[in-house]
Amino acid sequence: MKTIYLDNNATSQVASQVKDAMQPYFCELYGNPSSMYTFGGNVAKAVQDARAQVAELLGADSSEIIFTACGTESDNTAIWSAIQTQPEKRHLVTTCVEHPAVLNVMQFWERQGYRVTRLSVDNFGRLDMAEYEKALTPDTAIVSIMSANNETGTIFPIDEMAKMAHERGIVFHTDAVQAAGKIAINVKETPLDFLSISGHKIHAPKGIGVLYVRKNVRFRPFMRGGHQERGRRAGTENVPYIVGLGVACQLALDEIKQGTAEMAALRDRLEQGLVAKIPNSRVNGDVEHRLPNTSNISFKNVEGEAILLLLDQLGICASSGSACTSGSLEPSHVLRAMQVPFNFAHGSVRFSLSRYTSAEDIDYVVENMPPVIAKLRELSPFKD
Ligand code: PLP
Repeated sequence: MKTIYLDNNATSQVASQVKDAMQPYFCELYGNPSSMYTFGGNVAKAVQDARAQVAELLGADSSEIIFTACGTESDNTAIWSAIQTQPEKRHLVTTCVEHPAVLNVMQFWERQGYRVTRLSVDNFGRLDMAEYEKALTPDTAIVSIMSANNETGTIFPIDEMAKMAHERGIVFHTDAVQAAGKIAINVKETPLDFLSISGHKIHAPKGIGVLYVRKNVRFRPFMRGGHQERGRRAGTENVPYIVGLGVACQLALDEIKQGTAEMAALRDRLEQGLVAKIPNSRVNGDVEHRLPNTSNISFKNVEGEAILLLLDQLGICASSGSACTSGSLEPSHVLRAMQVPFNFAHGSVRFSLSRYTSAEDIDYVVENMPPVIAKLRELSPFKD
């Protein structure tokens, strides 16, 4: 059975060009980039080239790119750094729909005595700019707001929000783990201080990330030890993965330049096909401002987990907005924050496409999913 992989916001296939570029750095060019001899120096050059490729994706300078182990480390580091460099400030701003990589960090600092403002969203997952403006105070150490939501694909007005923070002298971080490589980001135009990227969401391997740190922004390392990354992130560089991430960024930039309309068209074909064929279904999120690859659809009176199990039997990989906590299936914090009605929120499925998704994949899902929902509704104790 063919695998129809529509869970690219969870992780993505390593691009063959990425794999090929990484290959020599395992058994042939395995030197330590910090070594003095040429064998190490050549490897250091590869790391620098990759740094330039990542910087180009963001419109940044190479010196502003720090390689980390993952998006989570980048998020932790940005918030840590802002707190450590401004010990007098005791307030943090975020949203209630962040990934746990930010939400749980905020909760940690809250337990250390920080005050945290979590901005609410409306039914479409949009932020209220008046609420945001009110949240910014002279005591705010950092604003951390995602560029795009991992569950719904909703894109936040980061440009405007970063400008508002900067006008008040407040440090701004964005978790761009889902946005980078899918939509254009230019740090020359958007006054971000910190930005997080994760390799495995953009066809590089798992275990490599990036933290962009704007020049002259005060910084305290999260990982201490050796002098790697100019003292900003200790630990011997993960050279093959860094090289791979550089190529992945280059491929993503080419894709963005060519336009992602084709991917968005496939996403819409999936969405429209399913909504037309399955009564009592609805799309979640801000469809006007959305990543081109993401669709979150709710099907009334069915359990998301049950849908995923039956889709799995058809070779379809997707993800649900539910999390099994203490025996009860709770809708995700994102759908709850959007106040998606309970009987819809439970039956939510996130489909996320990639450059490798074909029209055949989409048509297969549109054809095979309606009977799955019909079957589950027959079994469901909840009726209209
Ligand atoms: N931030 C967002 C928005 C994500 O979607 C994810 C992963 O799903 C992360 C952070 C964490 O990234 P990583 O898996 O590289 O730690």
